[in-house]
Amino acid sequence: MAVIVTEPAGGHTPGLVCAHHHLYSSLARGMPAPPRTPTTFREILELIWWRLDVALDLDLIHWSAKLGALEALERGTTAIIDHHESPTAIEGSLSVIADACAEVGVRVSCAYGVTDRHGAAGATAGLAENDRFLSGGGRGMVGVHAAFTCTDHTLAAAADLARRHGVGVHVHVAEGSDDGGAVARLASLATDEWLLIHGVHLPDDHGLAGTLVHNPRSNMNNAVGYARPARFANPVALGTDGIGADMLDEFRLAYVAHRADDVTAAPGDAWGWLSTGWDLFPEARDDRVVWSYEPMDPWRLAFTTGVSPRQVSIDGEVVWADGQPTRVDAHEIRAKAAEAARTLFSRLENTP
Ligand SMILES: [Zn+2]
Repeated sequence: MAVIVTEPAGGHTPGLVCAHHHLYSSLARGMPAPPRTPTTFREILELIWWRLDVALDLDLIHWSAKLGALEALERGTTAIIDHHESPTAIEGSLSVIADACAEVGVRVSCAYGVTDRHGAAGATAGLAENDRFLSGGGRGMVGVHAAFTCTDHTLAAAADLARRHGVGVHVHVAEGSDDGGAVARLASLATDEWLLIHGVHLPDDHGLAGTLVHNPRSNMNNAVGYARPARFANPVALGTDGIGADMLDEFRLAYVAHRADDVTAAPGDAWGWLSTGWDLFPEARDDRVVWSYEPMDPWRLAFTTGVSPRQVSIDGEVVWADGQPTRVDAHEIRAKAAEAARTLFSRLENTP
């Protein structure tokens, strides 16, 4: 139902695109500490994320996705390219995410991150979920966790499934040094439709086809190093890797991380990476965000914190106005998500 609202004054942009998100991680904030402090990227996966993802069920995924979609909207992000994993609740999970985003009004592209971490049956179930969702007309890609957690057989099957659906593969590549073999294993499979996430440890001339998605905050948080995305021939886009969907904030951080590496770097590069999101999710160009600041110029925005949407329209419908979503009750979503988080945390406390 369209809501008639007068457009406020301010600079404007199309809807922003988060080119790599994990909506399943929205409930993770405040989670119980891991059994011991992780000292490497591999241990961050093992002790935090791979304990969290097995604790998810479809109800927790629903509230996590809804909270993440709400938080995207309130930062002017109208399109999310999501990468999902929930090894004990695979079937139907992508539809749960798509439906939660649709309720809030945010566009989403879904992918299930296939992996052999839970054996061949787990990989088969992940491929089947991608196939089920895409066959039903869902907007998405085929997800792969990363080459280093998949057999060559699974990687080939995922690439083949993507080809049959006319989409790309959404895969973490060389985020940490554990994934050093990714180039050799993916070289014959990757196409221009693929999303290569992180690429921190890729050689400059890696030769993989696809768009490289840079996630500067996540890379700093995991201490995996600076990806130096300006060195790649590939198109580069920006993602959050699950730490919210505030793309103006990610742009500012992408700029300053670039600048820390190269004092001649200018904000136009990071703004170009943000703009690549519209090539990946062209529908977001039809969305409109009116901001609390103008002009929306990269040099100014790199040094102006706290710029917020005053109004967001998606496909002609106002979905955010006067500090509130128009389709859903933000207070109710936050309360239900907090309740879901308590359930998740008690599961984690009982996970060895
Ligand atoms: Zn990721």
